[in-house]
Amino acid sequence: MDCEPLPYGRHWIDEDDIQEVVKVLRSDWLTTGPTVEAFERAVADYTGAKHAVAVANGTAALHAALFALGIGPGDEVIVPALTFVATANCAAFLGVRPVFADVERDTLLLDPERIAEKISPKTRAIIAVDYTGHPCDYDALRGIAHEYGLALVADACHSLGGAYHNRNVGTLADLTAFSFHPVKPITTGEGGMVTTDDADLARRMRAFRNHGITTDHRERALAGTWYYEMTELGYNYRLSDLQCALGISQLRKLPRWMARRQQIAGQYAAALENSPVARPLAVRSGVSHARHLYVVRVNPDVGRDTLVSGLRAKGIGANVHYIPVHLHPYYRQQYGGKPGMCPIAEEASRHIVSLPIFPRMTDSDVRRVTHSVKELAPDLQPAASSRARR
Ligand SMILES: *Cc1c(COP(=O)(O)O)cnc(C)c1O
Repeated sequence: MDCEPLPYGRHWIDEDDIQEVVKVLRSDWLTTGPTVEAFERAVADYTGAKHAVAVANGTAALHAALFALGIGPGDEVIVPALTFVATANCAAFLGVRPVFADVERDTLLLDPERIAEKISPKTRAIIAVDYTGHPCDYDALRGIAHEYGLALVADACHSLGGAYHNRNVGTLADLTAFSFHPVKPITTGEGGMVTTDDADLARRMRAFRNHGITTDHRERALAGTWYYEMTELGYNYRLSDLQCALGISQLRKLPRWMARRQQIAGQYAAALENSPVARPLAVRSGVSHARHLYVVRVNPDVGRDTLVSGLRAKGIGANVHYIPVHLHPYYRQQYGGKPGMCPIAEEASRHIVSLPIFPRMTDSDVRRVTHSVKELAPDLQPAASSRARR
């Protein structure tokens, strides 16, 4: 291989990020300190949400959101079938049944038309996933949630920086969960955040991330007291000041990185126009797409696995997002997941590939990917050219 391997996603850390973390290392507070609050304020201000609660990772953010809503054993939540397992796991943690709903054929986002048929008297919430960074149809989802008296949670682990009808992701649902894993829009190494406009939900999540104790170490230090009470069973889901310092520094770069992601997506879309090999997912009007993943649907005549192995042989980190959650062995065994339950997600899952996209990719990296995709075409072009417009 004559080039560096190209991953499907990658973080970007500069010297100024490092300096911000070093400042915290020299300070009095490594965790539960003022930098946590400053990062929460920064995310709240960036999204326009009233409250932001920092937690250990995106999975903890989803767990905290469902906990704050008081959802528990015997309840059900609706989740899309095509997502990362954590979207459903957060329900399972609480003894809640995740009920899988199918996705739209062209965007692969949770289909509002498929939700009503999944609602039962036990349903308490819908978790919408902004898959690939494309915000879901929140007008439709809020309408359904309101009609049936359900909470709406957004799994926005892909979509920090995105918007829907001029409203930022982070303000579109009752609670919005973010992840700061290294492949996500910004990183803190590991990290997560929940935004909400509801002060009571925010207070419950602050206790939940700190063992269910109603005050944290710094609040007691400031109040000059040692006394504390645990009122609910929480976890240690705190995010440290070191991580939050990195988060603040990363968030400043997000608008620039988003613009670059959108530019790369534009280059892919132009290069794949009428491609006999693969075509991009649809994008709805009125959204600002955060472009966390660049997912294409591969022509069955080429074969998804052929494209993945062909790209990987050239050092291009093609990936698949995702296997439908209900088909994982755990969900088959524990929740009766079976093929046929969400046919659109299942069919799509066999044909999708995520091409590399991250802000530090160069134009020549993008061309390397598009040329490699094209190279898979020559032998099938005559037969495939008419099918490309299917
Ligand atoms: C990454 C991700 C999560 C979990 O985030 P972590 O920070 O890795 O725990 C949840 N949902 C989706 C859709 C994700 O992509």
